[in-house]
Amino acid sequence: NMILEIKNLHASVIDESAEDSRKEILKGVNLSIPAGETHVIMGPNGSGKSTLSYVLSGHPSYEVTEGSVTFKGQDLLAMSPDERAAAGLFLAFQAPVELPGVNNANFLRTAVNSVRKVRGQEELDPVKFLKLVRELAKKLSFSTDMLKRNVNVGFSGGEKKRNEVLQMTLLEPSFAILDETDSGLDIDALRIVAEGVKSLRSPEFSSLIITHHQRLLDHIQPDFIHVLAKGRIIHTGGPELSRQLEAEGYGRLVGEADA
Ligand code: ADP
Ligand code: MG
Ligand code: MG
Repeated sequence: NMILEIKNLHASVIDESAEDSRKEILKGVNLSIPAGETHVIMGPNGSGKSTLSYVLSGHPSYEVTEGSVTFKGQDLLAMSPDERAAAGLFLAFQAPVELPGVNNANFLRTAVNSVRKVRGQEELDPVKFLKLVRELAKKLSFSTDMLKRNVNVGFSGGEKKRNEVLQMTLLEPSFAILDETDSGLDIDALRIVAEGVKSLRSPEFSSLIITHHQRLLDHIQPDFIHVLAKGRIIHTGGPELSRQLEAEGYGRLVGEADA
């Protein structure tokens, strides 16, 4: 019962600044994620982790040159970003956009309704939406103050994370991909992300979390950890793998994969 199946995925980035403008980053990624599981990707800087999440989101700067990705049995790569979201895929990136002049509640409601529309669900008017958002915020122990403000403008790191988790929860995804790689996530933000993912956990929900934060891994207790290096998954292990990597680094695994 695989939700996401990535087979021999090769992808290049279209680099405007380089002379030979196509650079292959993903060099044959294979990864299968069953329903209900939490998987983590770790790996050295520059190995293609963010590229993988961008490719799965349908970002136009990346070109798939070989391989396939199926999501719930459908060809994910043939779907538009909107169709991916409607099918239940949620992607969170490092830097959430700030939208001055755009009310956060309206923004979230528009996002939710565009997905509901494609799913054939009733669209939510402002009253119904507010009721739903209040219930969710209560469940997540979030204040609803940030709904009145402009999208992410002047939000603290923790508030941005809460807003992202709120958006994720509202969209009722069956699969969430979170790229939490870079530094700048404090202890509070990590806990917010972990609680958000845990609140969605069910036999029908899976996630793929890109991180090197041991504390986040302690919170979410993943089923499997994969190591991505030089554009390929070179090793898969259980939750204990992160401690081993923390102790010995990636050198040995990368060396074995090269040999
Ligand atoms: P990671 O997330 O594992 O640190 P990335 O996927 O961000 O790795 O990057 C993988 C490689 O692709 C790096 O060498 C990076 O410089 C290159 N790369 C990624 N995006 C671009 C881009 N838009 N233009 C040029 N090179 C890129
Ligand atoms: Mg990086
Ligand atoms: Mg990255």
